[in-house]
Amino acid sequence: MENTAVLTCLQQNYFCFSGHSSSLPSRSFSNTTLSQPFSLKLQKQPALVSHYVLRAASPARGYATLSDTYSGTSELADIEWDNLGFGFLSTDYMYVMKCPQGGKFSNGELQCFGNIELSPSAGVLNYGQGLFEGLKAYRKEDGNILLFRPEENAMRMRMANRRWVPPTGKGSLYIRPLLMGSGAVLGLAPAPEYTFLIYVSPVGNYFKEGVAPINLIVEHELHRATPGGTGGVKTIGNYAANYSADACSEGTIGLLRPKAILTVLYLDCIHKRYLEEVSSCNIFVVKDKMIATPAIKGTILPGITRKSIIDVAQSQGFQVEERQVLVDELLDADEVFCTGTAVVVSPVGSVTYLGKRVSYGDGIGVVSQQLYSVLTKLQMGLIEDKMEWTVELR
Ligand SMILES: *Cc1c(COP(=O)(O)O)cnc(C)c1O
Repeated sequence: MENTAVLTCLQQNYFCFSGHSSSLPSRSFSNTTLSQPFSLKLQKQPALVSHYVLRAASPARGYATLSDTYSGTSELADIEWDNLGFGFLSTDYMYVMKCPQGGKFSNGELQCFGNIELSPSAGVLNYGQGLFEGLKAYRKEDGNILLFRPEENAMRMRMANRRWVPPTGKGSLYIRPLLMGSGAVLGLAPAPEYTFLIYVSPVGNYFKEGVAPINLIVEHELHRATPGGTGGVKTIGNYAANYSADACSEGTIGLLRPKAILTVLYLDCIHKRYLEEVSSCNIFVVKDKMIATPAIKGTILPGITRKSIIDVAQSQGFQVEERQVLVDELLDADEVFCTGTAVVVSPVGSVTYLGKRVSYGDGIGVVSQQLYSVLTKLQMGLIEDKMEWTVELR
């Protein structure tokens, strides 16, 4: 990449570092992209708060920006916004912060997005010591950018790279914070060093043609989580188990319905009768005016979308129960839907359980539609946010 290209990227950016230092923390633009040193100047006036914003958890904040090259424009990145899918698309930068075990995180730094170097003995590679988060930023009609409940992602940080936030209505910027044991260990032990990094990727609306129903298959042998385990935490180790369940579902059902993409719905591992969740979404069952979702008891990931939908549903006059939900309740439900940051609210078109298939119709049910509509309008800044869930970046 040419230096000018990098500078063009940089001039769009604005970032805040923890601490009131008078110079930037050590930068690592060294990898590949820079042939000459940058002249980065620190500006303390918060007048340029509209561009790249990235905040680390910090007792005090300093502001840094590229004063020389700052142009004040907020042009979009050069990608085909109409063809955004839900795959990973690399963006300019990532944010990286490290700390020794038991120590404090140092000032973070913005690095060009790229591969990271890890010891082969890193805790994350050998023992799966890692956590991640996922949230989205939407662009409003007025150009400002909205984050949805970022504090709920347990990070006191905010970020959005304006150029990579899709135009209004075309999708969102998916934000992925990742915390991992990066220090070397040989025996099973917590890593001696930790790395916190955040990268982002623009993503299309999960369902291009409106909301498409998903087809679930109830898995009654394999489980994603067990009591006393880590199912309730967004730890990287929770996801490998899905691969074998997914492979099994493809094997059995693929023969019957080769075209249907089936997503696995897990049951509790003790009774094998109560609903837990889908591999990366929570589940809701609608019957009359009553909405039920499995109660969070350590084996289910407490989704922020789940929590938000419960509140939205109640505000819309629905009764919501968080309780044990029997798998049989799926059989005579009016509607079933899943929730998660990626899918927002996703209607379930059918459920297959022990070879029996129940169908809920091709489209989205009225209740699911109503909840989807209220939540997405809130997230995109189209209706007043009485809940004060969104954080506007100006
Ligand atoms: C991330 C995730 C969810 C959804 O959580 P949100 O905060 O709504 O995105 C649900 N289940 C699992 C297993 C997850 O990893």
